[in-house]
Amino acid sequence: MGNKYDLAIVGGGPAGSAAAWQAARAGLKVVCVDKARFPRDKACGDGLTPRAVALLDSMGLSEQLTQFHRIDGVRFSGAKNWQVPWPHRTGLPDYGYVARRTTLDAMLLEHAAAAGAEIRESTEVVGPVASGNRITGFKTKSAAGTEPIVADIVLAADGAYSPLKKAIGLKSKISGTAAVAIRAEMRSDRPDDHMFEVYPHVKVGKNTIPGYGWVFPLGGGQINVGIGYLTSYKRWRDINISQLLEQFTATLPPDWQLPQMDELRRSRAVQAWRLPMGFTAWPPWQPGLLLAGDALGAGKPTSGAGISKAIESGLHAARSAQLALDTTGPDDLSEYARVLRRRWGMQYRMGRIIQRCGREPALVGAAFSVFDHKITHRAIILGGYGWKAAKSYEPEPKPKSAARLEGPTESISR
Ligand SMILES: Cc1cc2nc3c(=O)[nH]c(=O)nc-3n(C[C@H](O)[C@H](O)[C@H](O)COP(=O)(O)OP(=O)(O)OC[C@H]3O[C@@H](n4cnc5c(N)ncnc54)[C@H](O)[C@@H]3O)c2cc1C
Repeated sequence: MGNKYDLAIVGGGPAGSAAAWQAARAGLKVVCVDKARFPRDKACGDGLTPRAVALLDSMGLSEQLTQFHRIDGVRFSGAKNWQVPWPHRTGLPDYGYVARRTTLDAMLLEHAAAAGAEIRESTEVVGPVASGNRITGFKTKSAAGTEPIVADIVLAADGAYSPLKKAIGLKSKISGTAAVAIRAEMRSDRPDDHMFEVYPHVKVGKNTIPGYGWVFPLGGGQINVGIGYLTSYKRWRDINISQLLEQFTATLPPDWQLPQMDELRRSRAVQAWRLPMGFTAWPPWQPGLLLAGDALGAGKPTSGAGISKAIESGLHAARSAQLALDTTGPDDLSEYARVLRRRWGMQYRMGRIIQRCGREPALVGAAFSVFDHKITHRAIILGGYGWKAAKSYEPEPKPKSAARLEGPTESISR
C-alpha cells in the first residue's frame, strides 16, 4: 500500500519538519503533508533563542544558520533600560539568530526530505480517519483530488488553530492560555546591531496589560517589529491589535525613519496570529495520535518562544512514535507525555499561574513597578540567566523617543 505510513504528519512548520527529519533518520516510513507551498510565510518575530539554535545544531544545520542575523543578547527598553548578553550555559550557545520564517521553514522541510521523509505540499488535510477510538490516518485534498493517508501514528503539527485537533474534538485536561501577536517587517535606519530589543510596558488606556513589544534586527537594514499580549487579560477582545502595533511603532525613535503603517499594510507585511502556550492539549496523545508545536500549545508560557518548543516537541514526538512502534504499539503513546512532563512540567505549571495573574491590569502594573527596581532586575536576571549575566548587567541610556506605549481600546481585528 503506497499510502500506508509508520508516521503521517500534518503540518510542515518547525514541529512537523523536525519530527519528519527525526523519524526518517530512524528509518520510519514517514510523510509530512502541508496545505501551503513552500517557501511560505508565518506571522512570527523570527527570533531564534540559543535553545532553538542548539536544537538546530543537533539536527546538523549549524552551517546553514550562519546565513541569518546573529543575536548576542536581549535589551529591555522601558521605564528603565538594561541589557543582558546571553550567558554561557551548558549545552547552549551564547547567541541566537533572527531568521525569516520563509527561509527557515523551507530549509527545515528540505532537511527532512534529504533525510528520506516524503513531503507533500499544497495538500490540505480535511479530516481524520478513525477505527474505534484510534486515529488511523486522515483524508487529504489537493489539485490531484482527494486521497486518504493511512498510518500507524498520526502527528498533528498543524499550528495554533490545529484543524485536526478541532475535527477530533480533543478536550484538554490542562488549559494553558494564548497570546495574540502581530508583526511587521520593515526597512529602517536603525543600526544593524546584534540584540533582541524588548519593550515590556504595554498600556491600553490606563491599564498595563500582560504583553510586550519587540524590535528584532534581520540585518541588511530590515527589522521585525511586533507586539503581543495574553488573552488571559480580561478585556483582550476590546483591543484593536493593528492599531496597537501602529501606536507602538510611533513610539520608536524617529531617526529610524520607519515607513508608515498604511504602506506596510498594503504590502501585506503586517500579520497577526495566535500563539498558544503552557499546553492547550493534554495529554499530548491519544491512541494513534500525537500533538506537537502550537497544536499542543507548546509555546513557553513566560516568553512565548514557540520555535524551539515546536522543534523540541516534534523531535520527542517522533522518538516516542518510534519507541511505541518497537514496543507497546500505537495504542499507548504515554512515553511522550512522560518526556514532556519531565522536560517542561514544572516550568509550564508556574507559567500558567503567572499567566492567570495577567487577567488583572492592577496586578500586571504592580508586577512591572517591582520589576523596574534595580535590585529586582538583578535578582530576576540572576534567576533566569545565572550569576555571570547578572554581573554583566549594563543599564542603557533611554532611546530618543521614550514615550510610554499607550494603545487603543477598540475591537480586535485579525
Ligand atoms: C506574531 C508572532 C510572533 C512570534 N515570534 C516568535 C519568535 O520571535 N520566536 C519564537 O520562538 N516563536 C515566536 N512565535 C511563535 C512561533 O511562531 C510558533 O510557536 C511556531 O511557528 C510553531 O510552529 P509549528 O510548527 O507548531 O506551527 P506552524 O509554524 O504554524 O506550522 C503549522 C503548519 O501546518 C500547516 N497546516 C495547517 N492546517 C493544515 C491542514 N489542514 N492541512 C495541512 N497543513 C496544514 C500550515 O500551513 C503550517 O505550515 C511567534 C508567534 C506569533 C503569532
